[in-house]
Amino acid sequence: MRLEKKVILIIKVTLDEIKTMQCVGSRPQAIYLHWTAGGYNTVFSTYQFCIKGNGDVYTKETYIQTGGAHTYGRNSNSIAVSLCCAFGASPDKDGLPTGDCPPTANQIETAAKLIEVLAKKFGLEINYDNIKTHAEAALEDGYGPHSGDPNTRWDLWKLKDYDGIIKDGGEVLRGKAKWYRDVSSF
Ligand SMILES: [Zn+2]
Repeated sequence: MRLEKKVILIIKVTLDEIKTMQCVGSRPQAIYLHWTAGGYNTVFSTYQFCIKGNGDVYTKETYIQTGGAHTYGRNSNSIAVSLCCAFGASPDKDGLPTGDCPPTANQIETAAKLIEVLAKKFGLEINYDNIKTHAEAALEDGYGPHSGDPNTRWDLWKLKDYDGIIKDGGEVLRGKAKWYRDVSSF
């Protein structure tokens, strides 16, 4: 007897395809930005979108639906974008990830473009209230960097901006997303 195996399909999508993807159920009211803590090519179905090291975007479904299990206490009305990176990393003295799998430039730029696409799609202003890194959410909710919580999360806590200055990762990504909204068409 042949057993049928259920497979979660991980589908490669372009930003243009995401613009026209159907949204099932409630409209997302927030976007959370993560990393997977895995390698550059390992995608996880925990997130609505994963960005591989080369900048390619993957989704588990052909539609967008809020929910999942990505950001403690904040999943029901939100969607998550995750960069496939930071395997085995811990924060260095500047809060950047150690190891040989940090976020790549392609991932960061694609994440910023995807934020812009999703914010426009769902009518969200690009601001701290609507778009946060998991580090920012965790800092608000008491399990961020320096909390001592055994489940500390620090996804994208710090990133280098275009000028090389290290800033809060959320600030960098929101800034780049606004730049793609206002200055560059892609
Ligand atoms: Zn996370």
